[in-house]
Amino acid sequence: TINFSAGPAMLPHEVLIQAQAELLNWHQTGCSVMELSHRGKDFEQYALEATQDLRDILNIPDNYKVLFLQGGARAQFASVPLNILSDNTTADYIESGYWSKCASDEAEKYCHVNRIKIQNDNNGILSLKPYEQWQINPDSAYIHYCPNETIEGLAIFDDPTFDNKTIVADFSSCILSKPINISQYGIIYAGAQKNIGPSGITIVIVRDDLIGKAKQELPSILDYAVQAKHDSMFNTPPTFAWYMSGLVFKWIKQLGGLTAMEERNRSKAEMLYRYIDQSDFYHNRIATENRSIMNVPFTSPSEDLDKRFVEKASQHGIIGIKGHRIVGGMRASIYNAMDLAEVEYLIEFMKEFEKTNG
Ligand code: PLP
Repeated sequence: TINFSAGPAMLPHEVLIQAQAELLNWHQTGCSVMELSHRGKDFEQYALEATQDLRDILNIPDNYKVLFLQGGARAQFASVPLNILSDNTTADYIESGYWSKCASDEAEKYCHVNRIKIQNDNNGILSLKPYEQWQINPDSAYIHYCPNETIEGLAIFDDPTFDNKTIVADFSSCILSKPINISQYGIIYAGAQKNIGPSGITIVIVRDDLIGKAKQELPSILDYAVQAKHDSMFNTPPTFAWYMSGLVFKWIKQLGGLTAMEERNRSKAEMLYRYIDQSDFYHNRIATENRSIMNVPFTSPSEDLDKRFVEKASQHGIIGIKGHRIVGGMRASIYNAMDLAEVEYLIEFMKEFEKTNG
């Protein structure tokens, strides 16, 4: 089976094999890692090593904390304003698609949100205004944006730069897909269930000067200062998800880090877009410069054929390829764990389907 799901998504095969091998006896403890205390020396050491591996891979400067939290990216939609804003302040929210709009809607409960819509529809072709054209409010406390809209397959590849502005980004569906210049950001957050590990853990990378500003009434569990002080173990962390994420970080290191990951991801995406573009049967409506290298949505000539495609695909071991209900069609999520041969297999299936239904 090849799993093209947007998340929870496929994990690297090598990682699953290793997890399976040590499932019943982790690090010679005679127990599964799931059964051990997060306060035990073995797990504490493992957690520190996983955090350091993530720091190494992303080249995270010393003046940033790395937190392993719960509540998914959605908890961060609330945590970000609650941690770094005082009353009545304004924040700029860049709206590029579904998830960035969800982030604005949540933030609006806590602050004044300046919504900046950046999607252009040019005769059915969707593109995003480059960051140089974003209408930023000079008084805003920060700018929030989403570099990869998982549902629409819309991506922003540049790290935006604005003088003296804090930039906050939801990297849920593209973290670890390519190098990021962390020092251009105030906060980066990402749910794990696409490129990091299983669902249940959320990574927050936050610059030191943004920690400790939360109001008294903020629940401690959401407070970056509390979580940083307790090394993300203020409450019991999702130890298994943390463990799996640690294996994924080692796997990325072994493959050559994020530059190698980006190369692998670009090759897969280019191959798939190239095939879609030369076909009269399949269509992707995203402008070339904003095409995601993680989520590739496409349609066939009709909704009936889309439905049949999804059914036939599952008979050929291709699962998780149905598009999100708000855009329809199909979506191939081709995160880090997927290799080139698996995308080639999808393309072969697409060719066959086109031949019999075109
Ligand atoms: N942001 C983006 C870009 C996403 O793709 C998703 C989920 O797919 C979310 C936020 C919500 O994540 P969670 O379910 O972890 O809260």
